[in-house]
Amino acid sequence: MKIGCPKEIKPQEFRVGLTPNAAREAVAHGHEVIVEAGAGLGAGFTDADYTAAGAALVSDAAEIFARADLVIKVKEPQPVERQQLREGQILFTYLHLAPDPDQTRDLLASGATCIAYETVTDDRGGLPLLAPMSEVAGKLAPQVGAWTLQKANGGRGVLLGGVPGVGPARVLVIGGGVVGTHAARVAAGMGAEVTVLDRSLPRLRYLDDVFGRDFRTGYASEGLLAEHLAQADLVVGAVLIPGAEAPKLVRRNDLARMKPGAALVDVAIDQGGCFETSRPTTHADPIFEIDGIQHYCVANMPGAVARTATIALGNATMPFLLALADKGWRQACQDDPHLMNGLNTHAGQLTCYAVGKAQGIDV
Ligand code: NAD
Repeated sequence: MKIGCPKEIKPQEFRVGLTPNAAREAVAHGHEVIVEAGAGLGAGFTDADYTAAGAALVSDAAEIFARADLVIKVKEPQPVERQQLREGQILFTYLHLAPDPDQTRDLLASGATCIAYETVTDDRGGLPLLAPMSEVAGKLAPQVGAWTLQKANGGRGVLLGGVPGVGPARVLVIGGGVVGTHAARVAAGMGAEVTVLDRSLPRLRYLDDVFGRDFRTGYASEGLLAEHLAQADLVVGAVLIPGAEAPKLVRRNDLARMKPGAALVDVAIDQGGCFETSRPTTHADPIFEIDGIQHYCVANMPGAVARTATIALGNATMPFLLALADKGWRQACQDDPHLMNGLNTHAGQLTCYAVGKAQGIDV
């Protein structure tokens, strides 16, 4: 199979879909790999790294879309990329279609077979291709939250860990999955007083067993959420209903009850955000203020640490990429129901129930 990897074109996106190590393995499996020149530079991989791995370089993304049987990327295809996809071609990347009807329409019109990283599952009910980026974004959330809280950025001027004689900041994490757990661990490590709210009792039990000394847990009822919101200096939004739009757990009128200058980091923004006032921002202009509350809503947070994120993503995607390339998508998905769960569109049909439900389209 011909595997193609274009350079990412979303603003401030420095990751790349294929590492030189993954390219080497694909070549060893007998596949032809073509990579757009310069695709890996943002993540610290040179063109020479790819050619040493056996890949061929092409100067233009259009050549990748024209020639490749399987296109591997990181972010959802941008409009100019969507126009180049075609029936019979496999696209393997993050899509986050639920809150994005324009992209859904274009992918259906292209006829391409689009497999979304974020809906591939595993035996334990997890999302193995979302997990590495969730680990990265979770660890980044307190870091960017601490920055947002600084006075020069419009924040409350509160240091997460406090100092002797001055208490620490209060951090509320909503959603105790992969993002939430990593965010809570780092915030606690920075010295903040951390509470994680979730609606899953098994998850709360797990968090309490493993991290009970580092942070507190609570059931995410509306009442408890309102109580913690009023006390928080920093709130991290980390909820997920797989494949679906994020529930809006903090409404605009809740902001008035928060401390002026408090910060919201909405990591769930890639699924539409869990704060009503969130809108996606970029690394170039990451924060905005509404009703005195600072919002950080960067939809591709891991892009800030592109090298770590690229290698982590490549470790997770490689076995699926090899299965798709070795067997073809039909056989690979028949053999692995978890990969089948990643199939979002095929030949003009929507094949992901949660996306259909979010957009009112029959699946
Ligand atoms: P996860 O499935 O591991 O965790 C989600 C948690 O939310 C679960 O524990 C679930 O029980 C909980 N939850 C669901 N509904 C809830 C509710 N109403 N109240 C409280 N908790 C609730 O998911 P994850 O991997 O941690 O991802 C979280 C979000 O972060 C997703 O939207 C994901 O797409 C996003 N994400 C964003 C970026 C970024 O760059 N912005 C990067 C990675 C992940």
